[in-house]
Amino acid sequence: MQYETVIGLEVHVQLDTRSKMFCGCPADYQAAAPNTRACPVCLGLPGALPVINRRAVEYTVMTGLALHCQIPAFTKFDRKNYPYPDLMKGYQISQYDLPLAQEGYLDLAGDDVSSDGAAFVRIGVERVHLEEDVAKMQHFPGGDGAGDGGYAPGGYSLVDVNRSGVPLMEIVSKPDLRSPEQARQYLTALHSLVQYLGVSTANMQDGNFRCDANVSIRPLGSAAYGTRTEVKNMNSLRAVYQALEYEVARQQRVIADGGQVAQETRGWVEERGVTVSQRSKEYAHDYRYFPEPDLPPLRIGAGWVSELQAALPELAPQRKARFQADYGLSDYDAALLTGTRATADYFEDTLALRDGDGDSDGAGAGDRPAIAKEIANWMLGDLSRLLNQNHCDIADSPVAPQGLAELLGLIADGTLSTSLAKTVLEEMYATGDSADAIVADKGLAQISDAGAIEAAVAEAIAANPKAVADYRSGKANAARFLMGQVMRLTKGQAQPELALCLIEDALAQDALVQDAPAAADSPNP
Ligand code: ADP
Ligand code: MG
Ligand code: ZN
Repeated sequence: MQYETVIGLEVHVQLDTRSKMFCGCPADYQAAAPNTRACPVCLGLPGALPVINRRAVEYTVMTGLALHCQIPAFTKFDRKNYPYPDLMKGYQISQYDLPLAQEGYLDLAGDDVSSDGAAFVRIGVERVHLEEDVAKMQHFPGGDGAGDGGYAPGGYSLVDVNRSGVPLMEIVSKPDLRSPEQARQYLTALHSLVQYLGVSTANMQDGNFRCDANVSIRPLGSAAYGTRTEVKNMNSLRAVYQALEYEVARQQRVIADGGQVAQETRGWVEERGVTVSQRSKEYAHDYRYFPEPDLPPLRIGAGWVSELQAALPELAPQRKARFQADYGLSDYDAALLTGTRATADYFEDTLALRDGDGDSDGAGAGDRPAIAKEIANWMLGDLSRLLNQNHCDIADSPVAPQGLAELLGLIADGTLSTSLAKTVLEEMYATGDSADAIVADKGLAQISDAGAIEAAVAEAIAANPKAVADYRSGKANAARFLMGQVMRLTKGQAQPELALCLIEDALAQDALVQDAPAAADSPNP
């Protein structure tokens, strides 16, 4: 039987606010020693009262708007009760029936064709709501024999309250995703969206962008959904993809063996590449939700919503389209350059500096596609290689847009050849010095003065009689070989086209004055 995969994702995004969701404690919980970001509110001490963080609400509404959601005029917070040692109060303040945003969508490149000709698949977003993160537990189960979360003698757990109360936004998709690959695309798009909005650092490794994946299968063509499992514990896009692939295959095996998929929560075990059952599914009534009595309901003014709507920044898909239209970049380059907001900003900052440089080297707006392409090549080639090697984010690059623009200016005015510029870039990256300083310091400027190259030309010709003979017998390639020798002798600084001209001139001259046959034992070019 042919099966169809059905996936719905719940994504938790820690918001990048200064203080926590309901108290004034700093939200930078990872920067601090354990249990130093805690007050009576985040410890849940009796009598402590929460206060809503306005910025967190703003970020959630912005995200909702970017996802084309409706923002209800009236929302509230609810208590979600469950007992677990990472939950200081015994309940989490969350939103149950009236989320801050609902009924939106996110478009992915796909098979459907829209009216304007663009191909996309629309993934429904059920809701975006706001809640608080929980404390962080570390478990040390002790000696052998402590299975199933049990503890052997000597086992213990540690709790760090710093994360408790950090604003957490949850984005719940409709069960509209049809493959692990589509789930990966959705997560990539969502990740980019929150980064472009500037509402989260969205670092999966650090756990501030986390995903729980609900997955089921059903006979192809069937309208009813199959029983789903919920998979947790993935901390990279790759892990989400692999966990979903594994889970789809596992469910198919269960059904092929005549069994039934159990509704349960399963954990992804990275080292073994499998999901394992953690607990049977809990239901909403298990949580005994009720309205949070310590907080007033929230009325979101229409004026505020339209202000936020108007102030939404340009997001990756629009920016990519603009890069193609305005700068003539290819689909491929534009996609890479808008992959993160920092990369796109770097590109446009560099371009603006090169545009402004129009007077000195003729790089005016007319050359824009060529300049844009050149910047793209350097960013996606040498610069990104250096950044990758050093595990460095482009926002922290030792070579800033100013530096790259300067370097490209030196290529444009003939001071540097492309290959010399590569050497200079490496030096800029390693030392943080400016291109000008490095060129002056190391005497790296390209030699475009014929007199200075002629000595090297003469030396190359004298040392390679075989190549000279080859050239005379009609092998034009031999001149290129000699050019290589000149480049070597000048440590790459000779201007290549000039060197080639000088070689051809010299060989033509030689032919007139002397007619000596090449030595038979000359080195082979
Ligand atoms: P809960 O809060 O109990 O986890 P929700 O109704 O909020 O349940 O749904 C959670 C997620 O599960 C949503 O992303 C939804 O799209 C997804 N989902 C619901 N039913 C299915 C299904 N049959 N197969 C796959 N995903 C599903
Ligand atoms: Mg769930
Ligand atoms: Zn606090």
